[in-house]
Amino acid sequence: MVYYKTEEEVELIRKSCLLVCKALAQVASQIRPGVTGLQMDQIAEELIKDHNALPAFKGYRGFPATLCISVNDQVVHGIPTDVEFKDGDVVSIDCGTYMNEFFGDSAYTFALGEVKKETMQLLEVTNTSLYKGIAAAVAGQRIGDIGYAVQEYCENTYKYGVVRELVGHGIGRSLHEPPEVPNYGKRGRGAKLKEGLVIAIEPMVNLGKRGVKQLDDGWTVASKDGTMSAHYEHTICVQKDKALILSDHSLIEAEIKKNSNVNMVAIRSTEVSGA
Ligand code: MG
Ligand code: MG
Repeated sequence: MVYYKTEEEVELIRKSCLLVCKALAQVASQIRPGVTGLQMDQIAEELIKDHNALPAFKGYRGFPATLCISVNDQVVHGIPTDVEFKDGDVVSIDCGTYMNEFFGDSAYTFALGEVKKETMQLLEVTNTSLYKGIAAAVAGQRIGDIGYAVQEYCENTYKYGVVRELVGHGIGRSLHEPPEVPNYGKRGRGAKLKEGLVIAIEPMVNLGKRGVKQLDDGWTVASKDGTMSAHYEHTICVQKDKALILSDHSLIEAEIKKNSNVNMVAIRSTEVSGA
């Protein structure tokens, strides 16, 4: 069953999303070659608990950490480890919080140190595709319009592989609610979007082919062909003319600007405005 949110509920989800982005911003200020995923996880968990909230992923179906940290060819759901990040690593970090009975969810991919040009382009295109998906998420459009916008840009304009096995989702009193929000699709297909629908849109895009594999830890999903992968996620609320973005990546990007070990991943704003 799809739950449409009241304005009050949307504001509570926004609060949970802002806390997610504060935690990711704290990580953005600290992440660099030489630190570990476990250290980042601890920073995020402490910040979330200091705000009297709970990390949403910890314990979710047995997931052991506050952050999903997926490095290089890992797509999503990586478990933080004590392995130090290296120069040139691409680190996707996904975070969720639970506060005032509502969840928040957002993700960002960080490029550490000297990263190949082709990899930076993957990150920029994936980030831009998120905003193209958001631009399509207005009342009267359909779920398929969101996926089409992401897929068309990543696979046709750029020859990347959009992951099919994992999708965005409704969010609210549960971390994952209907509907599913695939990052691929056909225009005009799928459920109609109505005002008050709150969804997480989260393109996962591989530099090479779209196939993925599950690693032996039972959680981590990686690209099958071993190519780099990127992941960006916003929680948004569908409205009449333009979706309301409830998470706030500008908090993260302000910290990246101050951190010389992390490369800024721009959105290709001219390409978004043309959407
Ligand atoms: Mg997420
Ligand atoms: Mg999500």
